[in-house]
Amino acid sequence: MVPVIALVGRPNVGKSTLFNRLTKTRNAIVGDIPGLTRDRQYGDAKWQGRDYILIDTGGISGDEEGIDAKMAEQSLLAIEEADIVLFLVDARDGLCPADEHIATHLRKRNKRTLVTVNKVDSLDEHVVTAEFSALGLGDVIGIAASQGRGINRLMEWALTEY
Ligand code: GDP
Ligand code: MG
Repeated sequence: MVPVIALVGRPNVGKSTLFNRLTKTRNAIVGDIPGLTRDRQYGDAKWQGRDYILIDTGGISGDEEGIDAKMAEQSLLAIEEADIVLFLVDARDGLCPADEHIATHLRKRNKRTLVTVNKVDSLDEHVVTAEFSALGLGDVIGIAASQGRGINRLMEWALTEY
C-alpha cells in the first residue's frame, strides 16, 4: 500500500510550497493571498525510492463560513484519507488560535501527525519550534519549504514505517 500524506494547516503557512517541492511540480498555486487552494490536490511523489501520495489542502482557519467552510471540509476529508498528517504552522506568526483549533481536531483523530513548523529560514530551530510543543501532538520539526531546509529530516520521519 502506498502511504498517503496530507498537508494541513491554516491558509498561508506554506502547504502548497511544500507540495510543489515534494512533487517537483508547480501544480499547486502558491501565493500571499490566503485560501488559494480551494480543493484537495493530489500528487504522486517518491522519496528515496519510496512512493507516496501527497495531498495539498486549502486550509482550516477555525472560523469557517462560506468558501472557507468548503476549504475546511476538504481538509477534514484529507485527514481521513491520510496515513500521515503533516500539520503545518508558521514560525514567523507563532502559535495562533486557528492552530489550536486544528490541533484539537487532530488529537481526536489519533493519526500519525507531525507538527511541521515552516518558514524557519535562518532562525534558530529550537527557539521557534519550542512553543508548538504545547499543541500536545508529539514531535515538532522545523523546515523552510521555500529553501528546502529540513526536508530530508521531515520525509525520513514521515516515511519511517514505509
Ligand atoms: P498555503 O496557503 O499554506 O498553501 O501557503 P503557500 O504555499 O501558498 O505560501 C504562502 C506564502 O508563504 C507564499 O508567499 C510563500 O512563498 C511563502 N513561504 C512558503 N514557504 C516559505 C518559507 O520556508 N519561508 C518563507 N519566508 N516564506 C515561505
Ligand atoms: Mg495552498
